[in-house]
Amino acid sequence: MSDCLFCRIVAGEIPAEVVARTPGTVAFRDIDPKAPTHVLVVPTDHVDDAAALGAGHGAMLAELVATARSVAEAEGVASSGYRLVFNVGDDAGNTVAHLHLHLLGGRSLDWPPG
Ligand code: 5GP
Ligand code: ZN
Repeated sequence: MSDCLFCRIVAGEIPAEVVARTPGTVAFRDIDPKAPTHVLVVPTDHVDDAAALGAGHGAMLAELVATARSVAEAEGVASSGYRLVFNVGDDAGNTVAHLHLHLLGGRSLDWPPG
């Protein structure tokens, strides 16, 4: 998947501000942050989006959420609160076809999102 933007970030072929790595995940700052903390947590293996997940992806999902939690702690937003989001499809504004968990925090977040 060398044409995939986030696979290329995972491989280090495209620069990103990486804040955490685990064996199965990479977390890096969103290039266009929507909150003081806006980090994307991606699996190192390519998956198109959350709709492509199946029963075999349980460990991957748990690792994504665990990485997000440790990044939230490192960013100082764990106690103030944060949001974890998977966008799927056009109405949700999904633009990059490599699964990514948005970690948003550092301000009060609108609910429901606009
Ligand atoms: P989506 O809208 O698909 O859920 O989220 C994609 C996110 O990726 C957007 O928030 C966008 O700002 C971010 N993004 C797009 N291209 C790049 C890039 O080259 N580097 C980084 N760090 N983030 C990107
Ligand atoms: Zn990819």
